Amino acid sequence: MPKVALVTGGGRGIGRAIAEALAADGLSVAVAARTQSQVEEAAAVIRATGVGALALALDVTDAVAIARVAAEVGRALGPIDVLVNNAGIAESAPLARTEPALWQRHLDVNVTGPFLLTREVLPGMLQRGWGRIVNVASLAGLVGAPYVSAYVTSKHALVGLTRALAAEVSGKGVTVNAICPGYVATDMVWNGARNIVAKTGRSFDEAVAAMARMNAGGRLIEPAEVAAAAMSVVRDGGLNGETIVLDGRPSPTTEVPS
Ligand code: NDP
Repeated sequence: MPKVALVTGGGRGIGRAIAEALAADGLSVAVAARTQSQVEEAAAVIRATGVGALALALDVTDAVAIARVAAEVGRALGPIDVLVNNAGIAESAPLARTEPALWQRHLDVNVTGPFLLTREVLPGMLQRGWGRIVNVASLAGLVGAPYVSAYVTSKHALVGLTRALAAEVSGKGVTVNAICPGYVATDMVWNGARNIVAKTGRSFDEAVAAMARMNAGGRLIEPAEVAAAAMSVVRDGGLNGETIVLDGRPSPTTEVPS
């Protein structure tokens, strides 16, 4: 039986790239997010490659729905071996204008969602002695940035959750790692750029270029690169509690040897 993965936020962007990379490795993949049409399309594309796939409408802040969805994956594909906590939101505001509701939304989606999902699947992984939990955090989980205090705080917390659980499951066949990319070419960056345009009057292209320059490599990261990093911790059970930084600079593995 193929191993089974659940990818939250798998309908578009980074999550979709990770879902497709897992499927390319032969895993059955359940993709979950709130937008039904996007998860349906992602699952259909995977199914067309001959791999099992399931589309799930899920809000990761809904604890009841999480239990239902995990059971549904179990019935349709099998118990969850790989959990990719990728669903996330990013909204900007200076701290003094950060409404408590915005703050809470970030904690709910970016940290409590991963906590609830992990809590749901972890006992089965430990029982079977094999599991991979991949948390898509951010460079903002490791360093600060202005005007995104809710996002930065939530991603630091997700890195904290990763490290705490990695220590707890060490030596038990389950690993927990965080991927920490800089700006990635997805809707999240396009929305951020539109926000900059509205606030500064800069052009959309200038706003995107400014964000790309903030990555050490001076360019936006592609979702496929984040997927490759996620696959590295799925395949390599020796990595646990790592924070894998992607900043657009060539990595030793992508450089052409001279
Ligand atoms: P997108 O906005 O394209 O994707 C976000 C995904 O999360 C969507 O599939 C969305 O689906 C899902 N999502 C959001 N809220 C919920 C919710 N409450 N329940 C279930 N699913 C939800 O952006 P990215 O692909 O870039 O983001 C993926 C992850 O990568 C996020 O955690 C983000 O913080 C992280 N990241 C992104 C970076 C970037 O520059 N793009 C940089 C570093 C990290 P739907 O709206 O249909 O629910």
